[in-house]
Amino acid sequence: MNLSKIAVEEHMAPAGTLDQAADRFEPEAWRKLSNALMDIHGQLLSDMDASDVEMSVLSLNSPGIQSITDRKKAVEVAKRSNDVLAEQVAKNPKRFQAFAAVPMQDPEAASRELVRCVKELGFRGVLVNGFSQIDTEDSAVYYDRPQFWDFWATVESLDVPFYLHPREVLPSQMTFLEDHPWLGNSTWAFTVDTATHALMLMSSGIFDKYPKLNVILGHLGETLPFLMWRVDNRLRKTPKGCPAKRPLNDYFQNNFYLTTSGQFCTQSLLNSIAWIGTDRVLFSVDYPFEKVSDATNWFDNLKATNTISEADWVKLARGNAEKLLKLGAAKQTAASV
Ligand code: MN
Repeated sequence: MNLSKIAVEEHMAPAGTLDQAADRFEPEAWRKLSNALMDIHGQLLSDMDASDVEMSVLSLNSPGIQSITDRKKAVEVAKRSNDVLAEQVAKNPKRFQAFAAVPMQDPEAASRELVRCVKELGFRGVLVNGFSQIDTEDSAVYYDRPQFWDFWATVESLDVPFYLHPREVLPSQMTFLEDHPWLGNSTWAFTVDTATHALMLMSSGIFDKYPKLNVILGHLGETLPFLMWRVDNRLRKTPKGCPAKRPLNDYFQNNFYLTTSGQFCTQSLLNSIAWIGTDRVLFSVDYPFEKVSDATNWFDNLKATNTISEADWVKLARGNAEKLLKLGAAKQTAASV
């Protein structure tokens, strides 16, 4: 068996976080998804074997910690979830690694938890599910604010990537969804919110202060490869006090990585590669919301049809992930345990 690929946006859900996403699905669909979220060593592993995926990097299902309004509880649930994630990885570290979940409701605690996860549990980075609700349900706090800058310093000093993953938006944020519920969640609202959040980070000056920060976006960059030219073109004409020192695309092309999670579209991939280069695109599935075989059939076909070169395909399939997530080191650690 030639296990050729590494997937980095694959989700699981320990008890205590599982029912958060139930509202997004019909009951029968949710029953299957919630079983799949718990069945890492069964369903996910057999799907990986069948589709030549060597490793999945696991993360907590969205919204995970970010919708817990109580700060103390957010800190506790993050710790518990990371311990469960670590247990899952320890059962089969050659096939599974993990991203930490962190309580951004308390930035100092988030920094401490990230240090613990990276240094003690061997996690490969951190995945945060969009903005955090803090103290009240109707609050959406984004991470360009000053209280998070020490957290960004921690991420940079640990030299691990920060995966900005979508979450459901609040009704007050997108009032059009009231009349158009079919445009909510992963169909469209996730993308609008996550792309906006990424632009907030780029325009904040965070990357001027912490130039080695690496941020990962799923879904081939949440539309941004298509739009960065226009964003900078308009921003140059109407800067309105934007604090960033450089055009935002400079940060996009130097501090961001994109994954193919849930976006198995050749035209979009080619546009993303044209914009950001083959060193910054990583294969992913988005288990269990997408079928592993849907992702891999599409992705393997890119090589078979010479749509992208063999060398580039290998970078996307695994090389870029191995480098960014230092997976060689992870395998050595796994071997020595
Ligand atoms: Mn996902």
